[in-house]
Amino acid sequence: MKKKNIERLESIKAAHRSERIGSSSSSRVEDYLEVISELVEQKGYATTLDISRYMNVSAPSVTKMLQKLDEDRYLEYEKYQGISLTSKGSNLADGIRQKHKTLLEFFEILGIDHEIANQDVEGIEHHLNPKTIKQLRKFITFLKSNPTILTNFKNL
Ligand code: MN
Repeated sequence: MKKKNIERLESIKAAHRSERIGSSSSSRVEDYLEVISELVEQKGYATTLDISRYMNVSAPSVTKMLQKLDEDRYLEYEKYQGISLTSKGSNLADGIRQKHKTLLEFFEILGIDHEIANQDVEGIEHHLNPKTIKQLRKFITFLKSNPTILTNFKNL
């Protein structure tokens, strides 16, 4: 697997090491779809076992969740066959990956250690409005096109 995908999967895993307080079911749905899409991108497929490993839940819980995600049309799941994301599912996964990328970049600009940044972002990425992300994106672009400001900040 590519290094960045392993990092993403490991940070999702870390975020699920213990059941977080306030971890809503919509966050879990997003993380499941994200894990599946990372795995599919890397290996061409996602297995229940791989998902259970990165979501830190038992294989039967994964099966149950996959059935629910299938019902909600995020993916198509046939036991012993395979898992494929629908366009609804892959749009959601792409959106969350984009949010993650933006937040991670911002935290790194702030000088936060890559690993900590990845883990923090894992928790908050589900709770930000698209408009907030858009402004953050704009701010990052602004900072990058004004290196003097960035240097002054780094020297604080
Ligand atoms: Mn997450």
